[in-house]
Amino acid sequence: MMLEFRWPLLGVIIPVAIIACTAYGSHYFILRHHLSTTQQIIYECLASMIWASYALAIYTSPGEPPKNYNPKKGEWKRYCTKCRIYKPPRTHHCSKCNKCVMAMDHHCPWTLNCVGANNLPHFMRFLFWVIVGTLYLFVQFCERIIGYYNDSDKPIYLIKRSELIAVVVFTPIDLFILLSISLLFIRCLINICKGMTQIEIWEWDRIDSQFHSKRLWKSIRLNYKQLHGKKLPKLNTWTNKTPIDDEEYPLDDIMNQEENDELNSLVGPESTDTESHYRDDEDLEGECDPGADEEECDEGVDEDNDTVPQNFTIDDLIFPYDYGLWGNLKHFLGSPFMWLVPWSKPNNSGLDIEPSLDYKEDDQLGLPWPPDGGNQNITIPTPNDDELRSINNYSQIKKQLDPRYNAKRSNWQNDMGESLNDFGVYIDDSDDDKL
Ligand SMILES: [Zn+2]
Ligand SMILES: [Zn+2]
Repeated sequence: MMLEFRWPLLGVIIPVAIIACTAYGSHYFILRHHLSTTQQIIYECLASMIWASYALAIYTSPGEPPKNYNPKKGEWKRYCTKCRIYKPPRTHHCSKCNKCVMAMDHHCPWTLNCVGANNLPHFMRFLFWVIVGTLYLFVQFCERIIGYYNDSDKPIYLIKRSELIAVVVFTPIDLFILLSISLLFIRCLINICKGMTQIEIWEWDRIDSQFHSKRLWKSIRLNYKQLHGKKLPKLNTWTNKTPIDDEEYPLDDIMNQEENDELNSLVGPESTDTESHYRDDEDLEGECDPGADEEECDEGVDEDNDTVPQNFTIDDLIFPYDYGLWGNLKHFLGSPFMWLVPWSKPNNSGLDIEPSLDYKEDDQLGLPWPPDGGNQNITIPTPNDDELRSINNYSQIKKQLDPRYNAKRSNWQNDMGESLNDFGVYIDDSDDDKL
């Protein structure tokens, strides 16, 4: 859940107070007695990098879209009713900043600002310098603690009392900051390597959790028809894996008696019909030779808007803005030679971002991201007992019984209980209902 202060300014006052007390308190009470002048200058430069990157993360605009932006062909027409502009891809309206932010990552209560396309490098540098600073201090504190241990047989008056108290007070504070900021830094870095913002990771997890739901595919099929004026062609897998081949958790192997009882209490006694749920759709999905032309293909394609494709898995879904590890790092953080330079910027403005070559070559859906970006007002009846009994896969049954399986995008929560609202995204219902 997103942290919210009653007085938002506290979000900046608290870190400023902690950084100032820890950095300068440690210097005054401990470091100046043990470090050379040069080492102390280097330490103060390190502290300055923390202040500079923090100030830049606070004051740099995360990147607002131009007022006259017009969605290009093949993009969602997402209109922000607050800013009264069309949103470029990857843009979201922040309910805290009350403005649209390009490539919005999240709203950060500790910088009173959004983290977006334009200031993500500053935010990452801030986290990086805090980690370097707190790690350096931690090493110094450990040296002092080892020193006290080695001197434990000496009289107490030989140990500087103010220094001892400072080590006892600052060590746990420093360790706490080091661990918590490292976790946040690693999370953000993993996202960047994948080419996604935190919001897009959330979106991917949502699609993954609903991947075999009729709700998702009804929405995708309607979107496709609306955008291209024809039915979604048959989808193929490149991974040679199909939902029905997914034997990761076969029901018979994994279920012990306890789980069996639990499941029976939810869906009734187990049926002898073990035919896959997805097999039921087989007759609806027409066979289509990938080499056949479109019209030929269309004839064989199902008429049913609910149909879940058999031969298409989450691994076949391609995120449009994944440029590979190196490409993603450069896209979000700019030139590697400038990563540590306080004023350096990303390689893109957040506007005019081209889908990756992989996406252009291998995407089968032909829809902008997320593919169910429109047509969210779809109601799907919850699966009945017979439907559930026909699935011979425990993980699939678990997914289907999860209340999030058919949840609307605005109501969905990830495994950490985060909804779009927790990233600061303003949920505009009309945004979901229009293409
Ligand atoms: Zn807006
Ligand atoms: Zn914001």
